[in-house]
Amino acid sequence: TPVVTVPELSLVALVGASGSGKSTFAARHFAPYEVVSSDACRGMVSNDEDDQSASADAFGLLGEIVARRLRRGLLTVVDATNVTRDSRAQLVALARAHDVLPVAVVLDVPVSVAAERQAARPGRGIDRRVVQRHHDQLRRSLRGLEREGFRVVHVLHGVDEVDAATVVRER
Ligand code: ATP
Ligand code: MG
Repeated sequence: TPVVTVPELSLVALVGASGSGKSTFAARHFAPYEVVSSDACRGMVSNDEDDQSASADAFGLLGEIVARRLRRGLLTVVDATNVTRDSRAQLVALARAHDVLPVAVVLDVPVSVAAERQAARPGRGIDRRVVQRHHDQLRRSLRGLEREGFRVVHVLHGVDEVDAATVVRER
């Protein structure tokens, strides 16, 4: 079974298309406050987790929370798609600014799975093309993650590996 090792003090960036199972994975393996979610931040600033026009404020808030947690020495998981290099660069910069290790955990599930799960959820205005775009972006991202500054990169290939994975914290 895949073992996802993370340093005890790290910034863990989940990377995956909408519907790939990031929030589910995060809830299974980390404590509630350890997970900072872009959707939750969108909700807090706009009342609507799906309001894409609130993204700038949401990510501003997310960065603020992550920075304050890292300053306090707390492991923090960023639950956002993180499929673009820009989004990840901000996280790598945050980790570096606080002397913690940036870790990437990629949920590389088939686009069909992500799209189907997404379609089964009520009220999420994310269509198949968006999921496909996320997937394409993720695929293009895979090779460069270490070069972007992630010190540990775990890629979980497919639903089985995502479901079987365990997370181990290392001192
Ligand atoms: P988003 O980026 O839109 O927030 P996400 O990557 O956080 O998506 P989840 O919300 O975790 O995805 O999962 C999407 C849907 O798929 C949910 O309905 C969830 O219950 C289901 N799901 C997630 N992971 C699994 C799994 N391992 N097995 C079966 N169903 C799953
Ligand atoms: Mg989610």
